[in-house]
Amino acid sequence: MHAQSTAAERGASSCSACSATGPVRLIFERSVSGHRGYRFPALDVPAADPAALIPGPLLRRRPPRLPEVTEPEVARHYVALSLFNHHVDRSLYPLGSCTMKYNPKVNEELARHPGFAGLHPEAPEALLQGLLELLWSTERALAEIVGMDAVSLQPAAGAQGELLGMKLLRAYLRSRGADKRTVLIPDSAHGTNPASVVFAGFEPRQIPSRADGRVDLQALAAAIDNSTAGIMITNPNTLGIFETEIDEIAARIHAVDGLVYMDGANLNALMGLSRPGDMGVDMVHMNLHKTFSTPHGGGGPGAGPVGVKAKLAPFLPVPVIERDGDRFRLVEERPESVGRLHPFGGNVGVILRAYAYIRRMGGEGLAAASRAALVNANYLMRRVAEDFPAAKPGPCMHEFVSSAAWTRKHEVRNIDVAKRLLDYGFHSPTVSFPLIVPDALMIEPTETETRAGLDAFAAAMRAIAAEVRERPAVVRAAPSCTCVGRLDEAEAARRLKVRCRFDEGASEG
Ligand SMILES: *Cc1c(COP(=O)(O)O)cnc(C)c1O
Repeated sequence: MHAQSTAAERGASSCSACSATGPVRLIFERSVSGHRGYRFPALDVPAADPAALIPGPLLRRRPPRLPEVTEPEVARHYVALSLFNHHVDRSLYPLGSCTMKYNPKVNEELARHPGFAGLHPEAPEALLQGLLELLWSTERALAEIVGMDAVSLQPAAGAQGELLGMKLLRAYLRSRGADKRTVLIPDSAHGTNPASVVFAGFEPRQIPSRADGRVDLQALAAAIDNSTAGIMITNPNTLGIFETEIDEIAARIHAVDGLVYMDGANLNALMGLSRPGDMGVDMVHMNLHKTFSTPHGGGGPGAGPVGVKAKLAPFLPVPVIERDGDRFRLVEERPESVGRLHPFGGNVGVILRAYAYIRRMGGEGLAAASRAALVNANYLMRRVAEDFPAAKPGPCMHEFVSSAAWTRKHEVRNIDVAKRLLDYGFHSPTVSFPLIVPDALMIEPTETETRAGLDAFAAAMRAIAAEVRERPAVVRAAPSCTCVGRLDEAEAARRLKVRCRFDEGASEG
């Protein structure tokens, strides 16, 4: 933090990242003949000749070429590699909507417990009793947190939860003999929402939002008719704003026998404070990998359990875990079920972490985490707004959206500002989303940051704003201090760059 704010004060193009990463070599290049990190104890049995034990053609002719390095060299090598990338153990990771908060390491230990990690996924029910009890308990805890009657742990991600929700909607409508095709989606919804709706065979219809960022109720009323199957509504929406009229929205949808699906991916704004089930919502997914302590920077695995009201429970995926006295059963015979969504009860390792997190935090702890997320976001919004104005007036929930539109007159775009943050030692925020804000910077500090951490980020934003006015070329060229520079975003995922440009004698490539 100290090095970052010094760089921020200087407003220099140099930054801590350069010296932190330094020249990075392959571990083979660190190898020095005779260096070693471990010595085997002296043999206390007679030595055997490998040629006497292993058939000739399988014997190596030369010893393997392994790096010879000391233990500290190994540790430093891997720590240096870890600094190639940004991660939350390094510093703030304000990637809006993604909730890149610090995940307590103790939950990793539990998920790796041999009693769970060693279980065969096809083990018979009788040998799974402990795990089934734990999964059942997690379902109950999540149902309580969102105010629902039943939960399926099967969806492997938020988007798959949305797909399940739309399958449940279809099954529900069919059971009532209704053939309705339209699902309403506010324009402030998460991008996965319309995709899931289309994927499930429904037709999305966009509802505009008002100047305050909330759903336009008049436009909603005008769009609702007898073809309305339901609504998929992100709450808090992607502007980081709570839909205060959610109960009225739900009542209008219910009046035409439609269902309300809430995208509750960002439950760290709500848990312990308010429950979708109390707002008229029929189905909700929650992203365990965002709110309940699973690291997900590398893209998974995750879990997006769906909670539903009792009237939808018969349609949930099989198998369903049922409690029978002190036994737990996997029940497949559910004639109205939409079928199986995921094998083996979902991504169990992620669910275990969530269970551990919920039990350690307790109800009070979860509420405290939500409050801290709200306070941190509102504090940072005010600090950042001095340089990058907030897109909407009034308080935000767990995240906020600022606009970098003013930087255009210096021929700097929001992506340049985001990339420049990397030089100051922070991850970039989400950019250009939601689409309804020009040059959006979507910032989520999360509940695990201290005030000093937030201040350091705001100072970097201020320094970058000054650079935009005084030396815009520096911002346009960012990042300058990371191992690789500005990449082609599409190509980067297909053709990896593994050479650091600060490596002695390395040409970038
Ligand atoms: C992250 C997110 C999703 C998608 O979740 P995945 O697990 O990435 O599929 C959906 N909606 C919102 C609001 C989100 O933040």
